[in-house]
Amino acid sequence: MLTTTAGFDRIGDENAFAVLARAQALAASGRDIVNLGIGQPDFRTPDHIVEAAVKALRDGHHGYTAATGILPLREAVAADVHARTGAEVSPGRVMIVPGGKVTMHMAILMFGEPGADILYPDPGFPIYRSMIEFTGARPLPVPIREANGFAFSAEETLNLITPETRLLILNSPANPTGGVTPRVEIETLVAGLARFPNVAILSDEIYGRMVYDGAEHVSLARFPEIADRLILLDGWSKTYAMTGWRLGYSVWPERLIDMARKFAVNSYSCVNAAAQFAGLAALTGPQGCVAEMVAEFDRRRRAIVPALNSLPGVSCVVPAGAFYAFPNIADTAWKAKPLASALLEDAGVAAIGGPDFGVYGEGYLRLSYANSLDNILAAIERIRGFLERRNG
Ligand code: PLP
Repeated sequence: MLTTTAGFDRIGDENAFAVLARAQALAASGRDIVNLGIGQPDFRTPDHIVEAAVKALRDGHHGYTAATGILPLREAVAADVHARTGAEVSPGRVMIVPGGKVTMHMAILMFGEPGADILYPDPGFPIYRSMIEFTGARPLPVPIREANGFAFSAEETLNLITPETRLLILNSPANPTGGVTPRVEIETLVAGLARFPNVAILSDEIYGRMVYDGAEHVSLARFPEIADRLILLDGWSKTYAMTGWRLGYSVWPERLIDMARKFAVNSYSCVNAAAQFAGLAALTGPQGCVAEMVAEFDRRRRAIVPALNSLPGVSCVVPAGAFYAFPNIADTAWKAKPLASALLEDAGVAAIGGPDFGVYGEGYLRLSYANSLDNILAAIERIRGFLERRNG
């Protein structure tokens, strides 16, 4: 029998991919499925970005690049982070990685080991907890509450820090809730972190450009007092509709960047060269495409939330960011996961049960509104019909 390490017995999963596979299998068998399950923009990558990748290949950029990424791209990232946050970032602290996930993977591996504690948002992106458990560290969930508009509470987060805490993971705007944590909460958190100088921070800001109703995205990069322990996670997947390109970036503290570089050398070597040229065109080209996509998400958000609130037993707070609605279904007759699976099998609507994002996700569903307005409204009517038939 093959023997693997204990870590691999503990590694978790992301159920959104399993739901996607099931939805695709049902669709392939002829069923009409509306997919509100997967978290990826339904737009095409803008043409000028695609063309930059094609040109890069034609120009002969098909070899290895530096493990940290091509210099013009790291310079463009540094300039973009500076323009959006005011942070002084040298390109030498920027790492181009194959997708946002890779930064969390590296950061959690750097700080996680048996005996260490890592704090992470719950409900939150499932890979945080999975990777924490993989390292043998103790996962400490920071509850993200509907009553708090799905923002994290600075006080509650600070109170959960133990002497063994090595890493604090933050995510705003958030998956799966769409919550955006307000400035005052972030300032309180940063001030409180002065009491815990040995705690590193991983701030996942991959939805940072997707905020609505005048909500403000306050990047942790704005605070120079934590720059020596902040790992900033961002990327192109959501902002520029580039999930399949596998392209992300991170900004690392000076003393960690070389470890991140060596991790790359030991695993994937570098990011696909043409994708990096596409990323460069995305950052340095016209930004109207981002504004258009965000405006379209906003239009759908304004439609899906009242539609959800009109369903029997369902209530939904208005999400201020990302492209997810996280309705409370506690007043239906259903637990979240059986409801998600019945909706897919019986009503042809793919959604994700809240518990796939942590124990505090029970009583909720995640619906991605990265789908056309017509499909979204059709999905809500299917859910209505289902609940009227099966709610009790
Ligand atoms: N972080 C959050 C909060 C996400 O929701 C996702 C993707 O869904 C990622 C990171 C990963 O993004 P990528 O596809 O670039 O790896």
